[in-house]
Amino acid sequence: APEFDIDRVRRDFPILQREVHGKPLVYLDTAASAQRPQAVIDAVSNFYREHNANVHRGVHLLSQEATDAYEDARRVLARWIHAESEREIVFTRGTTESVNLVAQSFVRPRVGPGDQIVITHMEHHSNIVPWQMVCEQTGAELVVAPIDERGELILDRLEALLGPQVKILALVHTSNALGTVNPVQEICAMANRHGIPVLVDGAQAMPHGRVNVQELDCDFLCLSGHKMYGPTGIGALWARQQWLEDMPPYQGGGEMIRTVTFDKTEYNDVPAKFEAGTPNIAGGVGLGAAVRYLDSLGMEAIAAHEHEVLEYGTERLLAVEGLRIIGTARNKAGVLSFTIEGVHPHDLGTLIDHYGVALRTGHHCAMPVMQFFGVPATARASLGLYNTKHEIDILADALERTVQMLR
Ligand code: PMP
Repeated sequence: APEFDIDRVRRDFPILQREVHGKPLVYLDTAASAQRPQAVIDAVSNFYREHNANVHRGVHLLSQEATDAYEDARRVLARWIHAESEREIVFTRGTTESVNLVAQSFVRPRVGPGDQIVITHMEHHSNIVPWQMVCEQTGAELVVAPIDERGELILDRLEALLGPQVKILALVHTSNALGTVNPVQEICAMANRHGIPVLVDGAQAMPHGRVNVQELDCDFLCLSGHKMYGPTGIGALWARQQWLEDMPPYQGGGEMIRTVTFDKTEYNDVPAKFEAGTPNIAGGVGLGAAVRYLDSLGMEAIAAHEHEVLEYGTERLLAVEGLRIIGTARNKAGVLSFTIEGVHPHDLGTLIDHYGVALRTGHHCAMPVMQFFGVPATARASLGLYNTKHEIDILADALERTVQMLR
């Protein structure tokens, strides 16, 4: 494995050089959106400077170059997650759009009264609301698999929910609110025994470790570029080609058709069938560059580094008086969610900002998780590949001083 040189890695991210309120930026909000390495910034700006044109239609050179760059990104991403072919990659705006696509095109036509959609208690709103919408549209029922006090799924309770009435199991790989890493491979095997397709919300899994769709043996994987050091407004849905062939289009428009007459429109092949309209071309190019960047560092090396910082962070935070960590799963990645007795998380976030520390406070788009733990909100420090133990020290010191001040 390549050597993980944290100082060199940090220099890849120009924004880490800046100051916030006169202090060096300590960016602990990667779960909301990661920072971008120079390689991604360059890929996007180089695209606009040198190759910008619309894709897939032009015979002129720039259009061909733009198409090549965009399609190259699709191939790079396909290989990265071990898709069988790049035709299994549908570019979307991100995880949210990918889940909605599957909900509307795959699940909606297949369910009615008496059918069930199973999710878990630790889902992000983007893996809850699209299913509630399908349930309203079809009369299907939404069923929620429970979690325990650590923030882990209770696997035998999950298995007990599975049966012929369940038309999809949709679950998060790595929780943005708790940091829990679910045993997705085991869960997919469980669902497969019941013939239930599985959608994996991979938004937070992609930046923290290897995601191999063949190994997981899932049916759908949703991901967001901006969580994995790529641009915003771009993401992907991976699905087995046969599912994509069987699914009706999600949106209509240009690009997704082969021929159009007022009597009948013939749809394009996959994945074009699901990519109506001019896509986020530069975003796709940037996402490809992000994958190449992650590959150059090595996901194993990134995971090992982050794990060390997470362990250290857990220890340091627990030493802060009155601090409670929400989410103590045995397998965690990237997230330290916490509350401090007698301190409102929002006040904490605002005061901590003055130390240059960027963290997030709130429900993290996972209100049912907050309800389960009986808190309105948490403060969340989330890690990226560039974070250091030194930054954890800055966070812990700032927390201690803030707590003293507020008490
Ligand atoms: N799922 C999880 C676990 C997430 O963390 C997020 C983003 N916070 C999403 C889904 C939604 O991703 P996006 O907003 O990029 O569509």
